[in-house]
Amino acid sequence: MSGPVKRLTMEELDRLCRQRQAAGAPMASYEGPLARHVADGDRRLLKLQYDDSPAALRLWSFLLTEEERLHAARAAGKRIVGTMKDLGTVPVMAYALPNLVAFYPDGAWWTPCVMELSEGLFALAQSLGLGEAMCPVRAMAGAFVNREHFPIPDLLTCSVGATCDDFSAVAQRLESLGHPILWWEMPSRRQPDPGEPAVTLPGGFVAPESQVALVRSELERIRAALAELAGLPLGDAQLAAGIHEANRVRAILRRLQHMAYAAEPCPMPALEMLIAEMLAIHFCSDRAESVAVLADLLDEVRRRTDAKTGVLPAGAARVFWVNPVADLRVMNLLEDCGGRLCGTEFLFCHALDAIPEDLPPMEALARMALADPMVGPSADRAARIVRDARAFKAEAIVISRIPGASHCAMEGSVIGQIARQQTGLPVVELEVPPVADPLWPTPATRLEALVETVLERRTK
Ligand code: SF4
Repeated sequence: MSGPVKRLTMEELDRLCRQRQAAGAPMASYEGPLARHVADGDRRLLKLQYDDSPAALRLWSFLLTEEERLHAARAAGKRIVGTMKDLGTVPVMAYALPNLVAFYPDGAWWTPCVMELSEGLFALAQSLGLGEAMCPVRAMAGAFVNREHFPIPDLLTCSVGATCDDFSAVAQRLESLGHPILWWEMPSRRQPDPGEPAVTLPGGFVAPESQVALVRSELERIRAALAELAGLPLGDAQLAAGIHEANRVRAILRRLQHMAYAAEPCPMPALEMLIAEMLAIHFCSDRAESVAVLADLLDEVRRRTDAKTGVLPAGAARVFWVNPVADLRVMNLLEDCGGRLCGTEFLFCHALDAIPEDLPPMEALARMALADPMVGPSADRAARIVRDARAFKAEAIVISRIPGASHCAMEGSVIGQIARQQTGLPVVELEVPPVADPLWPTPATRLEALVETVLERRTK
């Protein structure tokens, strides 16, 4: 067994970067010290702790250079698609065309955290009537106004229907500001009636065939718009190839989850796992590179698992985490309190499921879109959380709430109640704002108490 792997400060990670540069180690063109992003305002990076590996350096560099990548794509003549809300479907279609790049403007959700509120996006949103009673996704509207983050897309798509009120309100406000949106309907997933023709979706939920057909017809409108934007046909052959490539990313991620969440001691920190899982939804604007980045991370996890080494002492409390944290630093906090991740449901678990490759591509994509845990009843989402928490041998569940998020007000308690009843595990709900520093003792105390409870339960 080797010694434990340290977590690094940003300065230490940057030192590793400079050492690799000086040694002529193979590095991707976008890799470099994180300090360059702090100079651009990403001040939260100074307060995070990082994994000590070239794979983590590559992951962070890849994440933090996405806006540059989007601007470079436009300069190279590619067309930009802003895909909003569906989390994992339309980008699979867009990347099937060689001259399109898709990204989620929704990702501005994290900008106030990364820039520690210095970027003024919430104030801009407020000036548009999108106040602090709403989810941090309102930052997206500010980013469309000040144009200092992502390029304004050539085409904007947004799913509506079974969509949270916050997102609908923000997207409608964008349209009123002169950003046309191609809306597509996502029905609220329901249980099939007795005898009604139904299909099992990727991930295991069941839906009536008629709902799948509706989504398929809506996605046909998206297909036509993407083809028109690209000036190229988007036939079944191109879509099937796009699905195959998306499945490569998803397969690596599932492998990474299974190894990282099962191995003892924990071989990869929670924060890097959150960032890695996020690559599933739109490949961080470069599908081929996301495969390489994730493969490096998987190799690192495999090496550590074989060497029986990890980033935390063996025996850390195994925590299943529900919902993404608005403040990334809280992922570090979990480990500082003696916990580790052993499974997640960050609102887009369907984006990690394999898309069926034995079906006509539009049927496969429609089934996958309808498998989104957020478009069905909270009880469905809870059932998947219970199933996955059991599979990953969780000892506790944390539900992080997002301030102002309309679905969090009730959904957290519904999921918590079902999870408690069905697993018997301790469940904690935490509210995490984009910068949680002023409230730090609250999540710290609650996570410490949760870890103590887990350790006590082991002795019984
Ligand atoms: S309310 Fe929830 S689902 Fe809606 S945008 Fe915010 S985090 Fe996403």
